[in-house]
Amino acid sequence: MAKSYDVIIIGAGPAGMTAALYASRANLSVLLLDRGIYGGQMNNTAAIENYPGFKSVLGPDLAKDMYDSATQFGAEYAYGSVESVEDQGAVKVVKTDSDTFETKAIVIGTGSEYRKLGVPGEDTYGGRGVSYCAVCDGAFFKNKHVVVIGGGDSAIEEGSYLTQLASKVTVIHRRDQLRAQQILQDRAFANPKMEFVWNSNVTEIVGDDKKVTAVKVNNNKTGEDSEIAVDGVFIYVGINPITKPFGNLGITDENGWIITNDHMETKVPGIFAVGDVRKKDLRQVATAVGEGGTAGQGVYNYITALGDQVKN
Ligand code: NAP
Repeated sequence: MAKSYDVIIIGAGPAGMTAALYASRANLSVLLLDRGIYGGQMNNTAAIENYPGFKSVLGPDLAKDMYDSATQFGAEYAYGSVESVEDQGAVKVVKTDSDTFETKAIVIGTGSEYRKLGVPGEDTYGGRGVSYCAVCDGAFFKNKHVVVIGGGDSAIEEGSYLTQLASKVTVIHRRDQLRAQQILQDRAFANPKMEFVWNSNVTEIVGDDKKVTAVKVNNNKTGEDSEIAVDGVFIYVGINPITKPFGNLGITDENGWIITNDHMETKVPGIFAVGDVRKKDLRQVATAVGEGGTAGQGVYNYITALGDQVKN
């Protein structure tokens, strides 16, 4: 028989872990599922300095503290890659690669993953100079020249982090203005190890039989092509939602982001969504935990109302 819970939370990032804390503290039985280690994108972040209570905290350290907090009232944590969710009304079935569970409610907090640039050489040199994680791979580029592609918070924050290791970090951006928060821009412009190539698209990542050696760049204003010699390429050109297992529920927009109301409810009763996977403007640890709390309480209200319906 399938093991059953009051609520299954899919994704153990800051949003999912906070939902687990609230739901278990409300005495619900909770399973927190993740296909990897708890913490989500926090694990790829060196210093978080916009989460209240900490002037600056290492992402993995905050993840561990949140996990301890989330599981203190009995929430169970398990590895599992969710493959499908079936809504049968008051009961929902969650299938992972190895198990089947039944639950009254679901909170989806699966987050997002970095988008690929989609140029020749990107896949060929994956793990051989091409990376999407400065914290994971930065140490391979000590005293070397790396490029960062993109102009958002990720590109500028991770680019700044890389200057602690690399000899030079060249940011290649397709416009002449960054999208990143002003404080990140100010720091980057003041950093002597950071250089900027504006109005430019990387058209190919080239290398030898071992590793990346250069990127080909096209200036989209002048049409001029050039080649920049590099040892590493860090790609931060946006994110995609991780919502493939939920495609059958009809809860996403045309780009796959999950639509909820202010209570974190999707249009399917008993299915909530929190954190980066939601269609929204601001993706931060601070916003994720607020949404997790709202959903944890919302699940409690939903299950209480379900019980009342059964009694009546
Ligand atoms: P993002 O904000 O979507 O920025 C993506 C960047 O890549 C943009 O500058 C965009 O250029 C560029 N880009 C997109 N497609 C491209 C292509 N095909 N070729 C070249 N460049 C391309 O993504 P993100 O920086 O990963 O951030 C994702 C979310 O996480 C955001 O909400 C962000 O605020 C949040 N975040 C926050 C922090 C923090 O608060 N410290 C840190 C990291 C991420 P255009 O500007 O021209 O569109």
